[in-house]
Amino acid sequence: MLIETLSVFPELFEPYMSTSIMGRARRRGLFDFMAHDLRDWTHDRHRTVDDAPFGGGAGMLMKVEPLHEAISDIASRGEVRPRVVFFTPCGGTFTQGVAQRLSRAERILFVCGRYEGMDERAYDMADERLSIGDYVLTGGELPAMVVSDAIVRLLPGALGNDMGSVDESFSTAEDGGLLEYEQYTRPAQFNGRSVPDVLLSGDHAKVDAWRRANAIERTCRWRPDLIADARLSDEERARAEALIARFHDADGGGRA
Ligand code: SAM
Repeated sequence: MLIETLSVFPELFEPYMSTSIMGRARRRGLFDFMAHDLRDWTHDRHRTVDDAPFGGGAGMLMKVEPLHEAISDIASRGEVRPRVVFFTPCGGTFTQGVAQRLSRAERILFVCGRYEGMDERAYDMADERLSIGDYVLTGGELPAMVVSDAIVRLLPGALGNDMGSVDESFSTAEDGGLLEYEQYTRPAQFNGRSVPDVLLSGDHAKVDAWRRANAIERTCRWRPDLIADARLSDEERARAEALIARFHDADGGGRA
């Protein structure tokens, strides 16, 4: 996989893309990364990428011409055309399901906004617009790193073992996963709290059953909105509905 970014701050990416799991996956050749500087596609002395909005208003907008030229040029390189993903608060919300879909792409180009955003015509170049949540950041570089991280850790071998991401939150299906079950490590006793006995039993079937039940219970408590789309047996769904009623109906919510 080749991940590329187009932004006015290309220097922001390298430390993240070469550290920890990202760095190891990159050194192992699971993905390659290239940060492009949008100013390389400007033609004036000041390497201008922004201008004032028509109609007035605060702030500056990214100009359409450098974006158009840069994306066309980058996309024409290499044998595979990249999937062009623009970051904007008006994009579809990034989820684990989107990460799974994007992790199957051969080449992705993340286009990162700055200032007050972009000339609307720039989005004509987008295969997809993504938001990482309902808040406004100063630029698309953090979203590009967030999405790259979520994608790379799904690549086979990236976590050092291919089972690493299977049980994780949101991951039991492309959409409609559960939260991950509770996990514990040593010591078995801490501040009067003990690890559930079953996890110390060495009985893998019982551990698996406990984890499944615990994942459902945790999801009912912390993210009941996920239950409607979760893949559950009839028996599990009935139990989940009872748990949601217990956690959320009686006292107005179990989110402490
Ligand atoms: N004026 C825009 C608005 O109100 O929607 C916000 C522009 S924001 C200050 C600048 C850039 O940061 C955006 O063009 C986008 O690339 C990026 N950005 C900010 N928040 C984001 C989010 N929640 N998800 C994805 N990208 C975001």
